[in-house]
Amino acid sequence: MVGKQISGKDIAKQLRDRLRHQVLNEDCFRKRPPKLAAVMVGDYPPSKIYVSAKQKACQEAGIDSELYHLPSSTSQLQLVECLDFLKNSPTVDGILLQLPLPSHLSESAALLAMDPEKDVDGLHPISLGKLLSGQPGFRPCTPAGVMHLLDTIGVDLPGKHALVIGRSFIVGKPMALLLMEKGADCTVTLAHSQTQNLPELCLSADILVAALGKPEWIQGSWIKPGAVVIDVGINRLPNGKIVGDVSFSEACKRASAITPVPGGVGPMTIAMLLKNTVDSAKKRLA
Ligand code: NAD
Repeated sequence: MVGKQISGKDIAKQLRDRLRHQVLNEDCFRKRPPKLAAVMVGDYPPSKIYVSAKQKACQEAGIDSELYHLPSSTSQLQLVECLDFLKNSPTVDGILLQLPLPSHLSESAALLAMDPEKDVDGLHPISLGKLLSGQPGFRPCTPAGVMHLLDTIGVDLPGKHALVIGRSFIVGKPMALLLMEKGADCTVTLAHSQTQNLPELCLSADILVAALGKPEWIQGSWIKPGAVVIDVGINRLPNGKIVGDVSFSEACKRASAITPVPGGVGPMTIAMLLKNTVDSAKKRLA
């Protein structure tokens, strides 16, 4: 059996086209288009690539975007002042704080200083608390994108064993919560760097979400035959090639469906950021 590749690229494009249609046609957007403000501190090269990809996607969907590029010498107070300015700016619907920040800045303090009503990345403690308590709110973009992928390809989730590998607050933990929420109803196991018997756990997973950030760590022989494999990892090899956390060529021989890297989860993260921005603008303009 050869695993069917899940094209996150195509599914993200469909979602972005729907959002563009919504922005062009819904009455509330006649007043003004939705607007995303991206805040980037310093010149970390991958952040520059991610931010410009997000801005390009905004433009294609008819969403205004503005980049606040602060120097790497920015103090915590200056960053908070910028976030406050955006909080009070009536035409800004969504704020994206591009992580990581330079090491002298506190990410948790910066996230806390953001306006939770404009937290389209879904990483403010209030957004995460809403996720935990099952209230509506912005969901973190990467795990929300994974849920959208699973829904679009019609994966039957209730009662299935989902294994999430990685416990970051950006991917792993919210991913586990979304998979166990009412409606998804998976039985969820969360594995992390201290987990023992990872191969055995993988072999019992109907849905495997790998977000550990280790190139091709998950071996094909660990995949339960017929499992759905979602590879969140983005790892650059010394030769410049980008690979995921799963050994793709082996895993796709056993999986029933699998996301490639690149072209899987990555494009979904951006599409969900746009969706959260449009939803935020709609709420504010209605
Ligand atoms: P992180 O470094 O914050 O977390 C990695 C997690 O993996 C940790 O919780 C750790 O306990 C766990 N882990 C490490 N080694 C392990 C092992 N051997 N066995 C089991 N668990 C192990 O990383 P993150 O921010 O959650 O990102 C994870 C990966 O996903 C990275 O490659 C990152 O680049 C990628 N990522 C992709 C997207 C996207 O849009 N596709 C978005 C965010 C992150």
